[in-house]
Amino acid sequence: MLSIDLSGKRAFVAGIADDRGYGWAIAKALAEAGAYICVGVWPPMRGLFERALRSGRLDTRLPGGGELYFEKVYSMDAMYDHPADVTPEVQRQRGFENARNFTIHETAMAMKRDFGEGCMDVLVHSLANAPEVRKPLLATTRKGYLHAISASTYSLVGMVQHFAPLMRMGGSIMALSYLAAERVVPGYGGGMPSAKAALENDVRVLAYEAGREYGLRVNAISPGPLGSRAAKAIGTVDVMLDYYRKNSPLAEANTADEVGSTAAFLASNLASGITGVTLYVDKGYHCMGMLPEHVEATAP
Ligand code: NAD
Repeated sequence: MLSIDLSGKRAFVAGIADDRGYGWAIAKALAEAGAYICVGVWPPMRGLFERALRSGRLDTRLPGGGELYFEKVYSMDAMYDHPADVTPEVQRQRGFENARNFTIHETAMAMKRDFGEGCMDVLVHSLANAPEVRKPLLATTRKGYLHAISASTYSLVGMVQHFAPLMRMGGSIMALSYLAAERVVPGYGGGMPSAKAALENDVRVLAYEAGREYGLRVNAISPGPLGSRAAKAIGTVDVMLDYYRKNSPLAEANTADEVGSTAAFLASNLASGITGVTLYVDKGYHCMGMLPEHVEATAP
């Protein structure tokens, strides 16, 4: 019988701060399949996250019984690669005053110190940030646009550079994209569509380079909308959810758990032939050319 078995494997999931986002659902699915889970939390969210975890406010129950348990929680800001990138100005920002060793390189070195060489099998990039995400492109500043690209796209490149050398052959890297990479989504701005388009392209190039150099696979998952903390900040997610329910082939919105199980599949040997793809988990919304709500509204 085919089954997803990740026992003995270790995953690093970057981009978790609560139990409402895709990163959390992915961590749960990987844990359910037997993997050890380490997380990278953005420094300003770490205190909040650890308090919520300790107080039992986060839903750690695994569907098959058992609890989601984190082997180690690290602070990581994916905007910074090396300690020299962290200027005194960065360190003075709110939420960073007491944060230390949070660059991508330092986080990877901390994992190596904690678990040794060849300690990882799965790397998940489930993060994005664009300060001007509510602004249309015509109003987006250069600074806001470049911030979106740095936090949401180059962050994957930096993570692969620093974490891939710690990963065992056959390991799996994945990043979360969105349909706005290839179609216009009004209300999703600030350079984020360009960041996702570049992310999907980098996934293909990294699939080739990390495949040849380390024997790793690199894929993107492109899910539909979810009412996560980040999506709520954009402001249009409830409208999007309703729109997907009305217009997707399966006439409902995808769940976070469906994205989690897709990630578990991509992490497993069952997906050993899959690399360089963007896999939609959106109940088929991406393939629509004409929307049913318009057809139904005009039906005789
Ligand atoms: P989320 O809020 O759960 O996750 C985003 C995470 O990014 C947060 O934990 C935040 O702390 C972290 N983060 C922000 N800036 C960071 C930085 N500089 N360094 C490290 N971490 C940083 O929200 P989510 O919606 O689950 O987002 C996860 C991924 O899914 C993102 O790539 C997002 O674009 C993608 N996605 C989301 C949706 C949606 O509708 N929610 C749809 C498609 C794709």
